[in-house]
This record gives sequence, structure tokens and C-alpha cells, in this order.
Amino acid sequence: GSPKIIEELEKEFAEKGLTDKVQIVKTGCFGLCERGPIMIVYPEGSFYSRVKVEEISRIVDEHLIGGTPVKEFLYEETVAGDEIKALDDTSFYKNQKRVALRNCGVINPENINEYIGRDGYEALGKVLTTMTPEDVIQTILDSGLRGRGGGGFPTGMKWKLARNIVPDADQKYVCCNADEGDPGAFMDRSVLEGDPHVVLEAMAIAGYAIGATQGYIYVRAEYPIAVERLNIAIKQARETGMLGKNIFGTDFCFDIDLRLGAGAFVCGEETALMTSIEGNRGEPRPRPPFPAEKGLFQKPTILNNVETYANIPQIILNGAEWFASMGTEKSKGTKVFALGGKIKNTGLVEVPMGTTLRTVIEEIGGGIPNGKKFKAAQTGGPSGGCIDPSNFDIPIDYDNLIGIGSMMGSGGLIVMDEDNCMVDIAKFFLEFTVDESCGKCTPCRIGTKRMWEILDRITKGKGNLEDLDKLEELAYHIKANSLCGLGQTAPNPVLSTLRCFRDEYIAHVVDKK
Ligand code: SF4
Repeated sequence: GSPKIIEELEKEFAEKGLTDKVQIVKTGCFGLCERGPIMIVYPEGSFYSRVKVEEISRIVDEHLIGGTPVKEFLYEETVAGDEIKALDDTSFYKNQKRVALRNCGVINPENINEYIGRDGYEALGKVLTTMTPEDVIQTILDSGLRGRGGGGFPTGMKWKLARNIVPDADQKYVCCNADEGDPGAFMDRSVLEGDPHVVLEAMAIAGYAIGATQGYIYVRAEYPIAVERLNIAIKQARETGMLGKNIFGTDFCFDIDLRLGAGAFVCGEETALMTSIEGNRGEPRPRPPFPAEKGLFQKPTILNNVETYANIPQIILNGAEWFASMGTEKSKGTKVFALGGKIKNTGLVEVPMGTTLRTVIEEIGGGIPNGKKFKAAQTGGPSGGCIDPSNFDIPIDYDNLIGIGSMMGSGGLIVMDEDNCMVDIAKFFLEFTVDESCGKCTPCRIGTKRMWEILDRITKGKGNLEDLDKLEELAYHIKANSLCGLGQTAPNPVLSTLRCFRDEYIAHVVDKK
């Protein structure tokens, strides 16, 4: 709805002589998707939510001309009697800490000056003029940053390997995985649409650290706004000397090109992504060799995802200790989650690692709508698993989630209430992986299909107790014998629901007694 709001504002400004006095800034997502379209009026920061075209005339007359915010159109949590509260005091925002999302919803992503005005490209200048590549890698290692794409591998370690493993390589590459394909996940999309320069800056820093001169962003073609904004950002960065030759007057040269993915989920797997950039069918390759040694075009390569990169400039500017002061012992910093499903405040949230599911769902998310009871939350999309109410107070970090049979994944968090059938949920995710299996190896190609058939039988009331054992047996074979992460994690939703909600499976089968 935002374009219509902008159109109406422009019309009102022209009629009322405000065109030169008030600036309309189109930003990316501010997180509270549930309440969109959102409009914030500065300098006060008044937060109008679910803005309607019919309301614009009054907002212009009473607020922009008259100086008094129209309370009845403001986000109700910001209004307390005569007082208008800051957004940071509302339940959705007060427990959040925005690092990766710090510019999203704040700056115009199509204007490099707005990024520069928020310390943009300062970290790149700092590393090029005051730090050695080894200093940069040590800072990222000390920060404790782990890959936000799912695996949680230490980012600094990845960079160190790529720098040292083939020291005399004639070419190295820096890649960005922007092929976000999990159902319910839109973290990377928001960063690319709201703050594309942060990814470019971080990739240039990575290039300097490992000794690469070329970067590639592999982005989904289904994200046209992200693609458009990345193209604009790359053009602006080249024009202002932030990409290209002799950056900041040094002898460091680095450029970035986009490659568009054609919708295959498996291309989010690192070796399949590189194979796809090379122009081949996107299928995973066996490891070793690892990409740090032989990656893109057989050259040493690092691949990080969008959110991982979005943390880098802030770590360089504020220091490793600052970043490591947030989070838990083994999971530092913050994590962005796409909060969806049966939850009041659908949206994008960023919280320190270690925040409990209870805080995310009850406080930030506003709880379950219509007075229903919380049943489970699915993290990690089709690779993850369900978290049941008994783990509501476990601090969310990489290791704790694996410990309870789920995984962080890229950050999709889908909430389910008492009306959801967990067998249907498991079948939904498995259907997704059956569709998306590339077919290269047998356990994944055939095994997931057989599992789906059993689930289909069970949900139609034609299954039996023996089917549950078959499901588990197949699941462990597929996990142990598949070539890539897609197959190795595909059975997780079935296994976790079998563990936490076995009674629901039993309720479907014919020989339950
Ligand atoms: Fe392809 Fe599945 Fe094998 Fe991965 S595990 S290579 S997606 S068939």
C-alpha cells in the first residue's frame, strides 16, 4: 500500500505548498510488517501504522502544517494519554537490538549519501588505511561472529582459511549467498531492499582480508526490488570510488557483479551456488575440497550470507569486544528472525543471541491471536525442527537449538497454535524438500519421496503404527547418506514432530490400539 500513500502525500504537498519543505524518503522494511504501511514523521519520530490514503489529508493539515500529531492514526502503543512514547519503548521494539538491521527502515537505500551519513563505508576506509588483512581477520575471529546462513561456522575462521590455504593463488573470490529460499524467511530480502550498501562494503572488506579482487552476489530472481536496489547500489559505489580500482586511494581493487538464481532451493547450498555461478546446472559437489581451497572456478573462495555480511562493518567500527559482549558464550551478537504464522506481530525482529522463545513470541510478537494456545515454533525452515512449550525458556542460540533437535537455520520462525496438526506441518516441509531435491543422490531423491508417501498415507487415515518405525528408519538413512545439507537435514521436521508430538501421529493411524 505504500506507493499509494506516497502518491497521495505528493498530491497534498503540491496543493498545500509543502513540496519544498517536507521530504518524502522511501525506505526499506522497518520490521513491524503486521502494521504496514508505516509512515514515520521526523524530527519527532511519530509512528503512523496501517496508514490509509483517506488519512493523509488530516495528517498533512494537523501534523505537518499544524504541528500536532494525529493521535488516533498513530501506532496505539506509542500513545499514552497526552504523551507520545518513543518507538523504542513499545513492546515490539524494546527487547530488540538492531545491528544487521540498523539502517533498514531508516535510510533511503537508493541514495549512497544516506548510507554514508550513517557511517557507511567508514569501516572499509578504516581497514584499508589502518589495518592489515591479518588484523581484519583477527578482529572477525575475536568477535565470535558465526555464519548466519544456517551452519553457524565461525566467519573469521573461514576467512583465515581462504587467506592462507593457497597463499600464491592468482585469483580468489568473495561470494554472497542471497538465495534465501526457506518458506517463511525474508531476513536477507529486507537487508538487501533496505540497506544494500552494507553488503557491498562488507564484501569489499572480506576481499581485502583474503586477497580477492572480485565478488559475486547470488540473489534470487524472485526478489526484483532487491535486485534493482543492488544494481543501483553497485553503480553508485563504483561512481563514488567505493568499488573498482584504487579504493580510498590505496592499491586495493575490488568489484562486485550480480548473478540471478532461477528459483532452485538447492542453490542456497554453497557448492551448488558456485556451480550455478559458473554457468552449470546448480548441483552440490562433494567436499573436500572445501571452497576455501577450491571454490568458484576452482579458486579459493569465501561464501557468507547477507546477514553475516551486514554485521561486518559494525564489528570493524565498534570492535570485536563490543560485538562479543552481546549474546551467549558460543553464539555472539544478534540474530534476525522472520516471525510468522500464528502470531500477532508478524514481522522482522533482531534480538541478542540467547533471548528466549518466550520473549520473542509473547513480548515482541504480542502472543498468539484469538486467545489460542501456543503449540510449537519451527525454526530453520525445512531443515529445522519444532520447539515445543517445554523449551519455551531456553536461550536461543546455535548450540541450544541443536541440543533440542532443531537448528537456527537462516532465521525463519513460524509459530503454531493448538489448531495446527503437526503431522500436516511435517508433511508440508517434506513436500517442499521432495520438490527441491536436485536428484543427484539416491537417499535424498528417493528416500524423501518414500517418507512423503508414508506421511500422506498417515494423514489420510490409512497408515499404521509400523509406518512410524519406517519413517524413523528412512529418516536416519537419509540424514547419514545424503550428499549435501538439503538431504542431510530434510528429515528433521518429521523427526522432531515424531519426538515431541508422537501422540498426534498415533491419533491418525488405524491400528492405534
Ligand atoms: Fe541433491 Fe538431495 Fe543429494 Fe543434495 S542431498 S545433492 S539436494 S539429491
